Amino acid sequence: MATIKAIEGGTVHQIQSGQVIVDLCSVVKELVENSLDAGATSVDVRFKNQGLDAIEVQDNGDGISPHNYETLALKHHTSKLSTYADLTTLQTFGFRGEALSSLCALSKFSVVTCLAADAPKGTRLDFATSGKLTDTSVVAAQKGTTVSVENLFNNLPVRRRELERNIKREWGKVVGVLGQYACIQTGIKFSVSQQAGKGKKTTLFSTKGNSSTRENIVNVFGAKTLTALIGLDLNLELEATSAPSQRWSTQEDGGKKDIRIVGHISRPASSERQTPDRQMFFVNARPCGLPQVAKAFNEVYKSYSGWGSTQSPFIFANIELDTHLYDVNVSPDKRTILLHDQNRMLETLKEELTALFESQDYSVPISQLA
Ligand code: ADP
Ligand code: MG
Repeated sequence: MATIKAIEGGTVHQIQSGQVIVDLCSVVKELVENSLDAGATSVDVRFKNQGLDAIEVQDNGDGISPHNYETLALKHHTSKLSTYADLTTLQTFGFRGEALSSLCALSKFSVVTCLAADAPKGTRLDFATSGKLTDTSVVAAQKGTTVSVENLFNNLPVRRRELERNIKREWGKVVGVLGQYACIQTGIKFSVSQQAGKGKKTTLFSTKGNSSTRENIVNVFGAKTLTALIGLDLNLELEATSAPSQRWSTQEDGGKKDIRIVGHISRPASSERQTPDRQMFFVNARPCGLPQVAKAFNEVYKSYSGWGSTQSPFIFANIELDTHLYDVNVSPDKRTILLHDQNRMLETLKEELTALFESQDYSVPISQLA
């Protein structure tokens, strides 16, 4: 009979890495989130051959201190979370300390970083697949960090083949996700560019460090998108009804929990054709998949957009709520979020959205709306 024994560390690392970095989109998401967590006001995302050859994310954030070089890409090493309790008050995108270590296992990975005081001299860091630092060298750099990921999944032949085969769809997803960060983050200049082969670099979109999400949406999707949108600002008041929720109630007002949903949505009956990837949901500015919330929005919208309408609305909705009211630690990629008392929230959301649509004056032609 076969003997039960522990899986060797390096193998465990590779197995787990493939769950954190599942596709091209996860690479982009993790790197952009790290830049935002580092306080960047400028994030430049560059692709070679749609990411099949290389993905590079350059930011002007805090940079990495030399005392963190050795631990930077080690598994479960993070500067953002130290105890489990921190999870409930988390303000950063990252907390699992897995992205960079996973990228070491799945690609040719390197970092150039520079602290403000050291510019224009920075340090290039190279790593082994285990995440261990193997080499440092001095290079020219500006304040901030540039992370480079080449030949993603080269050591996972099946995943690599799938990536190449589905690159068109993957690329669409990547551009969609970047658009979400670019739209939700105000005060940050985003730029996304792609270079095919040895061809010219083309910029897909860039935002200008705008102070509003409206301006960001114009930069990313074009001014025309806005003409069909109305502002969303829904306030949902949730009663804490069950005993367990009282335990972590942070408010003094008898356990009332308030959720605000802010953003933009297509005006019902708008003739603008919308594409489904223009439905963007965020929880405290974290892009995430919220199928039930999307369903609630779409249901109410449909009931206001006339018989036989098959159109999906443009939705840009940021759910602002206390960090105690949701859990992001559901899946390694943090895209799934568990919302407290979701059913109740959805009911209230539908009521408020209905009230918003009821209050609209549909006699004004869309072309005359701001
Ligand atoms: P996490 O984001 O969960 O902490 P990561 O593996 O993504 O884990 O990153 C590990 C650590 O590396 C971070 O905690 C952070 O201290 C540092 N780091 C990663 N990217 C950057 C960046 N662009 N600028 C500054 N520090 C970074
Ligand atoms: Mg991270």
